[in-house]
Formats: sequence, C-alpha cells, structure tokens
Amino acid sequence: MERKDYGYKCLNCGKPVEIDLQKAKKIICPYCGYRILEKRRPSIGRKVKAK
Ligand SMILES: [Zn+2]
Repeated sequence: MERKDYGYKCLNCGKPVEIDLQKAKKIICPYCGYRILEKRRPSIGRKVKAK
C-alpha cells in the first residue's frame, strides 16, 4: 500500500491540505482560500515493517 505525499499545511488556518499538483493548477487552501501552504514532511506516516 502506497501513501500519497501531497501533504501540505495551510499557514493561515493550519489545516492539513492534500493537493495533487498534476490536477491542481494553483496551490490554495480549500478551507480559507489562503495561498501560502507549507509542505509537510513526507516522513510522517511512514511505517517500516519489522522482520
Ligand atoms: Zn487555510
């Protein structure tokens, strides 16, 4: 199972926003319309299976 790494965080309202850059032409927060989003670290949610 792969996890998408389109995670952004709105710098205005602080909500997590998922944006598919191939579909979306503009990066904009869908909640408040703010246009400055911070890219979250892709390491979040990564799990490593122990053998
Ligand atoms: Zn926002």
